[in-house]
Amino acid sequence: MTPAGVSWPTLRNGQNGLSGTEVELGSADTTWPRHVHLIGDNALYLLGKRVPTSEAKLNPSPSVPVAIVGAGPYGLSVAANLRTLGVEYRIFGRPMRSWLENMPEKMFLKSVGFASSLSDGTGDHTLAAFCKAHGRDYQDVDWPVPIGTFTDYAQWFQKTLVDNVEPHDVIDLRQVGDHFEIRLSTGETVVAAQVVMAVGHTYFAHTPPVLRGISKDLVSHVMDHRGFESFAGRTVTVIGAGQSALETSALLHEAGADVSILVREEKLAWNGDPVERTLRMRLRAPESGLGPGWKSLFYSNAPQFFRPLPRALREEIVKRALGPAGAWWLRPRVLGKVPVSLHTAVRSATSHGDRLQLDVVRAGASETVTTEHVIAGTGYRVDVNRIPFLDRELVARVRQSGTTPVLNAAFESSVPGLYFVGLSAAHTFGPVQRFVFGADFAARRVGKQVARRVGKAQPAPASLQDDASRPA
Ligand SMILES: Cc1cc2nc3c(=O)[nH]c(=O)nc-3n(C[C@H](O)[C@H](O)[C@H](O)COP(=O)(O)OP(=O)(O)OC[C@H]3O[C@@H](n4cnc5c(N)ncnc54)[C@H](O)[C@@H]3O)c2cc1C
Repeated sequence: MTPAGVSWPTLRNGQNGLSGTEVELGSADTTWPRHVHLIGDNALYLLGKRVPTSEAKLNPSPSVPVAIVGAGPYGLSVAANLRTLGVEYRIFGRPMRSWLENMPEKMFLKSVGFASSLSDGTGDHTLAAFCKAHGRDYQDVDWPVPIGTFTDYAQWFQKTLVDNVEPHDVIDLRQVGDHFEIRLSTGETVVAAQVVMAVGHTYFAHTPPVLRGISKDLVSHVMDHRGFESFAGRTVTVIGAGQSALETSALLHEAGADVSILVREEKLAWNGDPVERTLRMRLRAPESGLGPGWKSLFYSNAPQFFRPLPRALREEIVKRALGPAGAWWLRPRVLGKVPVSLHTAVRSATSHGDRLQLDVVRAGASETVTTEHVIAGTGYRVDVNRIPFLDRELVARVRQSGTTPVLNAAFESSVPGLYFVGLSAAHTFGPVQRFVFGADFAARRVGKQVARRVGKAQPAPASLQDDASRPA
């Protein structure tokens, strides 16, 4: 299949290809780019013998300057910024899929209204602007945003600014020469000069080791659920103290399940109730896209200064900052309604028919909990090695700090032209990359660098040009 946009003349097998010319491959070979650019000794190739790309020094010509993998808030924001900059790109993935398939349909956002906008590079297409134009309820703060409002907004943003999304999965991504070869679920192969990985969190769902390997009928992750009606009348144990675990517990209770929560912490944490904030309060804890407080203000507004911090400090902050806590509006739906077992850790889990026996330690004492289902609300841990469509050779070339990609100031990994945004970039740019609010910074930075590479912008400042292969 010819990559879209390729217009070069082709030589046929058997002709004497010269270094720097393109030839068309035989039709039987589906694992290789059909058109290749020969930059070295091509004799083996012209005899029809397959040799590894690296040996043959094949370098396919890109059919598109930039490909974006993932059409969630970050992918759509990068796309909208590239459009503003006049850079040609293709973007793959069902728009907003993780929000439409892997989050509860009755969920409310934890982020406030003003911190829940995608980035278009101009600030025109905000959640507030959408709600105003469509007669929808909206408040900047102190109002939980319903997930339906947010997904409607994001889909409007996509249709308005990123109407070229191709709703297909990327099933393979590898490096060929200086470029990237992308295989789509449709069978098409695309060659891109640069790739932005905006794949979000779903590959990184974390289930504690003691709960792994048990049937999905008995153990699931919060991201496996859209609704909870099927749990009505059943005992369900939720593990975790974060927003997702607490909201899942509330929704289970409201759906008629007999639900309880196990948490390691000694108490549950809740974000403060909305109050009229005096000047003194605002000075002590200014409002920010990640909630009130000077630290939150730093994380949300100055991610460029997070990256130069020592690696150990960055990791500690990403682990601890904005730790597990429920939104203020969730508290009355949990406390007094759902039993919470504090200071409790699960030691082992054994299935007995359609039930699960959990051996737990609660405040130092051993106990047994029997339940019909466990839902792990135990978060997400970035591990680039778990992204299933990344070719192993390519992953091996991505310099990692632990299991997270080391990124330069433009979100580019040690593989030139390969960028990671969103959760995968949190260890570099801080907690804001876990939230929609961080999409603007990421999309602007990546947009500038990508545009510079394709000759659509002024040279990037030296601060954006440093090398991701430096020590993390
Ligand atoms: C339950 C829950 C609630 C949350 N609530 C909030 C909140 O209130 N506010 C907030 O700011 N953040 C919230 N977050 C965090 C939120 O996930 C991120 O802020 C936001 O989704 C990040 O956008 P993203 O584009 O990086 O990731 P995603 O939204 O996950 O988008 C990534 C996209 O990539 C697609 N993709 C993956 N692999 C491929 C492939 N091979 N081919 C094509 N497409 C692919 C996925 O299908 C997905 O659509 C929440 C997260 C969870 C789990």
